[in-house]
Amino acid sequence: MTKICVSIKEPSAEGAAQAAQSAVEGGADLVEVRFDLMPSLPHDLSAFKKVEIPKIATLRTRSQGGGFDGKDATMLDLYQRALRAGFEMLDLELGSPILERRDKELRRAGAICSHHDFEGTPTVSAILDILIRASAKEALPKGAFTINSCKDLLAIAEAARMFSATEKEFVLIGMGELGMLTRVCADRLGCAFTYVSSQVGNETAQGQLDLTTMRRLAKERTVVGIVGDPVAHSLSPAIHNAAFLEVGVPGIYLKFPVRQGDLEDFMEVAVEYGMRGFNVTIPHKEVVGRLLDRLAPSAVQVGAVNTVLVEEGELVGHNTDVHGVEMTFKEKGIDPKGKSALLVGAGGAARACCAYLSAAGAKVKVYNRTKARAEELCRAFRNCQAIGPESLSTDFDIVINGTPLGMTGFPDGLPIPDNVLRPGQFVVDLIYTPPRTPFLEAAERAGASTANGEIMLVHQAIGSFELWTGRTPSFSTMSSALQGGSQ
Ligand code: NAP
Repeated sequence: MTKICVSIKEPSAEGAAQAAQSAVEGGADLVEVRFDLMPSLPHDLSAFKKVEIPKIATLRTRSQGGGFDGKDATMLDLYQRALRAGFEMLDLELGSPILERRDKELRRAGAICSHHDFEGTPTVSAILDILIRASAKEALPKGAFTINSCKDLLAIAEAARMFSATEKEFVLIGMGELGMLTRVCADRLGCAFTYVSSQVGNETAQGQLDLTTMRRLAKERTVVGIVGDPVAHSLSPAIHNAAFLEVGVPGIYLKFPVRQGDLEDFMEVAVEYGMRGFNVTIPHKEVVGRLLDRLAPSAVQVGAVNTVLVEEGELVGHNTDVHGVEMTFKEKGIDPKGKSALLVGAGGAARACCAYLSAAGAKVKVYNRTKARAEELCRAFRNCQAIGPESLSTDFDIVINGTPLGMTGFPDGLPIPDNVLRPGQFVVDLIYTPPRTPFLEAAERAGASTANGEIMLVHQAIGSFELWTGRTPSFSTMSSALQGGSQ
């Protein structure tokens, strides 16, 4: 079973020993003390004698991403003192001359032979070569690689599978945001242990989870997330992670920044790492349908997928956005029946709006910068017609922005001229970051009543969460997590 190792970053030996003691109480299996992150190397290490779980002493060099740039003799001295203070293992970097002096000068101490790559992840055979060379030093091999793409995640999984055949222990870590999956799924990869921080904010490496979260996810966990580009602004992790805590399901929702051409690789990653599913956002929402094993009726009806469920290795596309759009109208007390609606945009979110408005009996006009796409959308729904800029007017009772214009990280302009807006209209912007876009501000100035994308976001999220876990979180939990914006 994969053990949990708390990596400790404290300015003094006493502070680190105290943090190690708290880690023991918090359920850690072992601790790593990062001596290289202390402002100066401590002389007295006796405080560690009280810590009763295995301890790893680490003096990571600058060239390997740490803070130590002293001499080999200084490293040797610290490691000798650490052994006398009861440390069971030393972290020695592949290529360090100290590795060769272990027998004589370090009492044949247990060692982790580590290698870090802050640029990227090499090929599977290069990863294996590193693990084999490290293992030949009679040490536990550890490779940590920066994950830049889904192919890197697949390379880590493949190397883990192949090295497992040696039946020797190893640790493989993917660094960075995409690499979090390798930390959460360390047991699936077969790692001897996974590094975590003592608490949120105390990480010693990017992408590290904290001890409490990792303990919660120790077994039978549900791993889901959002796939898109960009996803940095997304508040979905905050609302889903709050929901996991509320319903008591051990699960985590991660961000997967995946570029346009890499979606197919991500599908493989999801199955390989045993994910339960994922949400899809810009720019993958429509393309994703072609890469899935099948579509549920909700996705067929809309022609777009926002939620994928992995069922026995099969990827099944669903759409929970329509429900989110419907709830936005219901909660604001607007019945679209017989009303004229202007929909701006013709992407996945616009499709969900069209599906709802058309079924609810509205007459829908779709205006998109690429008219052919609006025409294609309108062929799929009743009472729906594509229009050009010459047909924009104040005639509409309902106006919806389904483009990302005004969203954080996107251009700030209005999706349509503000002379289309008037009192008495219901204006919706599907964007939720920021909560008030320039478009909504213009609508308010024109005297229209407005709604942003929050109600839709929370209700589509409830729908996705139900598909993945079979449990229904409360609207209030998800919505307050959205207001808090925490993750
Ligand atoms: P999408 O499938 O990529 O579609 C984007 C649409 O916006 C396309 O019609 C595109 O036009 C248009 N567009 C993009 N950039 C534009 C620009 N600079 N000027 C004019 N039009 C532009 O994206 P989506 O998934 O439908 O998402 C659209 C928006 O809805 C995003 O802001 C997203 O955050 C929001 N959304 C909110 C929720 C929620 O729960 N509140 C759910 C889903 C989406 P072309 O066809 O010409 O490329």
